[in-house]
Amino acid sequence: MKNQLSLYLHIPFCRHRCSYCDFNTYVSLQGLQRMYAEALAVEIEQAAAVDAYGGKRPLSTIFFGGGTPSIMTIEELELIFTAVSQNFTLAPEAEVSMEVNPGTVDIAYLTALRDLGVNRLSFGVQTAVASELALLEREHSFADVQTVIAQSRAVGFDNISIDLIYGLPNQTLDSWEKSLQAARDLELEHISLYCLTIEPGTPMQRWADDGQFPLPDPDLAADQYLLATKFLADAGFEQYEISNWARNGRVCHHNLTYWRNQPYVGVGAGAHGYAADTRYHIVQQPRVYIRRMKADRPRPPFPLTLAVAGHHSVTRAEAMTDTIVTQLRLLHEGLDLPAFEARFGQSFADAYPQQLPQLLEWGLLQMDGKWLRLTENGRFLSNQVFYRLM
Ligand code: SF4
Repeated sequence: MKNQLSLYLHIPFCRHRCSYCDFNTYVSLQGLQRMYAEALAVEIEQAAAVDAYGGKRPLSTIFFGGGTPSIMTIEELELIFTAVSQNFTLAPEAEVSMEVNPGTVDIAYLTALRDLGVNRLSFGVQTAVASELALLEREHSFADVQTVIAQSRAVGFDNISIDLIYGLPNQTLDSWEKSLQAARDLELEHISLYCLTIEPGTPMQRWADDGQFPLPDPDLAADQYLLATKFLADAGFEQYEISNWARNGRVCHHNLTYWRNQPYVGVGAGAHGYAADTRYHIVQQPRVYIRRMKADRPRPPFPLTLAVAGHHSVTRAEAMTDTIVTQLRLLHEGLDLPAFEARFGQSFADAYPQQLPQLLEWGLLQMDGKWLRLTENGRFLSNQVFYRLM
């Protein structure tokens, strides 16, 4: 994968906003979708023209995230895929993922996605329990999930992931286990688990402030995570990252780019990118994004496209922290100590002379040859470990 590149495309539209969501997404802007796809095509061209991306470095992964990427029509997606193939080379066996909301697609749409080159689907399922889906204001039922996964298999998708959420208000260990059982029965390649964060400004936060439900108990959430690690191991899944499990080695290669702290191109409203030691972010509002990409101005110098709202050079200290916090999330890989020393001109032990022996002694980190990894206890206390290494 060396010298290859990843591309993230953000689709900031949803039919409805879920009660817990603070992502960069907008309802009632679907009228902009066609113009947005055209703007994305322009940004893809500008991003690909950036020399620091290595000219025609092949893309090893593409990820459509949102928002709801599956809200885009096939014609709009064709426009975007054409721009990608005209401006980038795709590596053989490239992973092309798309987030899909159950209940938003049919078999004809899924077939068209396959024909466009999408080879991995990620469904936002969240829970199999009807009352929890209602609290999250998800628009689909678990029966919709079963249907769309059966349809996806029927049209040939053999790499399917779902997201589940634990730490929900009123979610018990039993109800969480029901979701895990239902997920296991879907016979998937990949599962991601997230702990609910009640974000400021969301309906969920207002309801919590009004006392409509008890705040989730962090100890119960820890027990739910522990239950999931055992349950999924018994179901044949390997935990390769703090929040991610795969069967038969079907890890998410796109997210591995982030966890290995490697460069990636981000396009679309609210996307982030990282290249040549520079992190940048794109304007958030779809209307502003479209206006910027339509502007008749020359593209600014690297790493900017006309839609970039801000950027900064990554300092050595920031790069060290990013490398540690992202690579330690990878449970089987971990932090590559010789690579760390080669990159930063200092060994990890020299950089953290007090912290490293302490974290080893507490049994939160372990060394295995050239790798430094979280222990099983360290996984539960990963935030504490990362905090001490910042
Ligand atoms: S579908 Fe996803 S992005 Fe859209 S509102 Fe719900 S949680 Fe947010």
